[in-house]
Amino acid sequence: MLGAAGFSSGANQYPEQVSSDFVTPSRVPLSFSERLQAVTEALAAARTQADVFGIVLAPALDALHALAGTVLLVDDTATLLLRVAHHGHAPHSLWQDSPLHAPVPAHDALQRREALFFEHPGALLLAYPDLETRTGGRAAVATAILPMIVGDRPLGALILDFQDPHHFTSAEVRFLRTLAAQCGVALERAQLQHSLEARVAARTAQLEEQRAALDAFVAYKEAVGSESDVLALARQAVRVVQASLEYVSAAYYELDGGLWKARVWSPDVRPEVAAEIQAGVPADAPDFREAAQSRAAVFADGWNAEANELPSTRAYGAVAFLPLVVNGQAHSLFVVGTRDARAWTEREKALIRAVARGLSISLERTEVMRQLQAQNAELDARTRALEGYAQLTQDLALEDDAVTLVGRAQELLVSLIPGSVSTYYEPEGEVWKLLSHRGEFWNPALLQVLGRGLPRGGTLNVDSAFETRQPYYQDQHDPDSVAAARQEIRVIRTSVALPVFEGEEPRGVLAVGLHHVHQWTSIDRAVLDTVLRSLALALERAKQAGALQQRTSEVVRANEELHRSNAELEQFAYIASHDLQAPIRAVASFAGIISKRYGERLDERGRLYLQQIVDSGEHMKRLVDDLLAFSRVHTEQRPFLPVEGSMVFDAVARRLKAEAPAANMTRDNLPVVQADGQQLDQLLQNLIANGLKYHRAGVASQVHVSAEREGDFWRFAVSDNGIGIEPQYFARIFEIFQRLHGRESYEGTGIGLAVCKKIVERHGGRLWVESVVGVGSTFLFTLPWRSGRNGSV
Ligand code: ADP
Repeated sequence: MLGAAGFSSGANQYPEQVSSDFVTPSRVPLSFSERLQAVTEALAAARTQADVFGIVLAPALDALHALAGTVLLVDDTATLLLRVAHHGHAPHSLWQDSPLHAPVPAHDALQRREALFFEHPGALLLAYPDLETRTGGRAAVATAILPMIVGDRPLGALILDFQDPHHFTSAEVRFLRTLAAQCGVALERAQLQHSLEARVAARTAQLEEQRAALDAFVAYKEAVGSESDVLALARQAVRVVQASLEYVSAAYYELDGGLWKARVWSPDVRPEVAAEIQAGVPADAPDFREAAQSRAAVFADGWNAEANELPSTRAYGAVAFLPLVVNGQAHSLFVVGTRDARAWTEREKALIRAVARGLSISLERTEVMRQLQAQNAELDARTRALEGYAQLTQDLALEDDAVTLVGRAQELLVSLIPGSVSTYYEPEGEVWKLLSHRGEFWNPALLQVLGRGLPRGGTLNVDSAFETRQPYYQDQHDPDSVAAARQEIRVIRTSVALPVFEGEEPRGVLAVGLHHVHQWTSIDRAVLDTVLRSLALALERAKQAGALQQRTSEVVRANEELHRSNAELEQFAYIASHDLQAPIRAVASFAGIISKRYGERLDERGRLYLQQIVDSGEHMKRLVDDLLAFSRVHTEQRPFLPVEGSMVFDAVARRLKAEAPAANMTRDNLPVVQADGQQLDQLLQNLIANGLKYHRAGVASQVHVSAEREGDFWRFAVSDNGIGIEPQYFARIFEIFQRLHGRESYEGTGIGLAVCKKIVERHGGRLWVESVVGVGSTFLFTLPWRSGRNGSV
């Protein structure tokens, strides 16, 4: 009863702890790569900077158990660091708005382009002694400051504060760097989106203003409506100007291959004139050139048709040239001519200007729309890239083969950078060996040459990326940088070679080549950087997984080996001892017969020899019996049942007492244990018998058995007052056939303790000895305790 009550109160002591640790899956901590994965996925959907802060700060705090996290951003004028986000609890934070050029840690981290870590109390203030007085804040115990740089542009810094000293492991450092890099890319994307929206809004406002000023041109506007086709707009302008000034002709020209060519003209223009203006006027025709260069209206009174290389237009007396300026450039001209006069009146000029201005604004609006569409497409592409990247990191988490991982990263890069190809090299002896490639090679011969391997030390871009551990960008790819493929590689116009890391060390080099000329942008660099970082994480994880698997299989192999040799030994022992029993019995009984029948006829020496045969026969019988017992520990197993230790002891003691009546054996109360009863009997018998056997001369032997609870086990102790054992033999005596004495001093086979060890281990316990020479020995063994079976104690 008492035992049962004690048990239940013990189990109820920490009920919540037990259930939450083992049942709630959310308590299992996420790995760094899982966190990065989640962050990447969330960032792909982030639209504003506020979204980004929320996504990045929370996992950073959580993963490193930080007290607070702050984001500082460089402002538009690049003179201030603004505190834009803060998570966690730090009432007197040091991290407030500050000038960018003051000696503040975030500024230093941005300038040096490296993270700053302050691990111990006071370390931050040692480096920046006046930080607290200047900001009025208080320094945290430990702090990490991570710069965010996209391409060459310093964006700001991510800062984590800690309540306790914090050692930043290399895994944490990598995690934080990747997080800061991802945060940077996402912030830039959000900024881009924001500025695009702002530009649309600003432009719309501007257009509204101008539109309001164009009262004179309402007609044109109404006619045009939302027309976005340039020629349709031009046709409307021609119609409107003719409707207002009935006697004029009008035409719309565009610059095309050094010639001004009419695209639209009014119906009154004569066929020969139409043919001439359509064919084109040289760009240096004086009035055309002046209007285009000055980007201001030219009203040519007294029209000179010959000088302007338009002889068919001699009938016109005055011509007006109105440049249509879009994005600061005069790409087209609105031209109006009159046959009725040789000069323009002010009213005519004002009206022509108004029409041209309206046309110009419509054209510009069309152009802005077109640009915005292009930018939107770019933004979409980038979003897709980030989503693709999220997918990639998910896939990478499942893959263990390094080259396959690299190949996946190459696939993503090739899909993100149109028209690109990618190669991946690893050093092998004197060459860079091509291990993986993706993309469509325009020149198949190039792939062949690369496939033969490139000389190490003679391939500038690959060598450099590997040695400096930095990307090697070439906006204009120099064929000599891959000297072994100088001819074939000319099709590649732009390139980059990037070191591929596996943990801290570069493993190989990944190159990306473009078949067209391209200037690497900061966005390209950020994408490359992010993909390569993620690849490095995946490679390191794969390597660790591989090593673990290797170790596991080694251990499994060794175990199997041990198991097999043990099984063989047992098999051998069983067969040998079993088959030996009959001949031994024969030797013993024949020796007995000889001694009985012919003993009288033997002399002294003969009888001595015969006695030795009898003794040896007996010893051999003991050996065989012990060997059989040894092999049977595993071959003859019975199920574990509750066994009363005290009863087993009593049976053993009774048997031994019959052999040695003077023996003194005592016990405490021994517990009930789950055991194979016969094996427990044999275990106690061997240990107690040894305790009696190895007694000191002249001292009555005494053996005592006791047991104690020790955690989940019962610990038994068999103590004697015998000769003791020297410590250097404590391990050896448990091996089979290992004896410390000759048979002339103590009879024995050297198998008993080996049997004991096997029995204890089969029961999930441990057997060892403690001893003092000349005082006595205690053999200790443990047996698992099972709940509710200890009532008898
Ligand atoms: P044996 O048949 O020789 O007793 P065991 O395997 O039982 O074989 O013991 C191995 C050796 O360990 C013995 O030869 C003896 O030297 C030593 N030994 C075992 N038990 C004791 C003990 N209680 N006191 C001292 N020595 C012991």
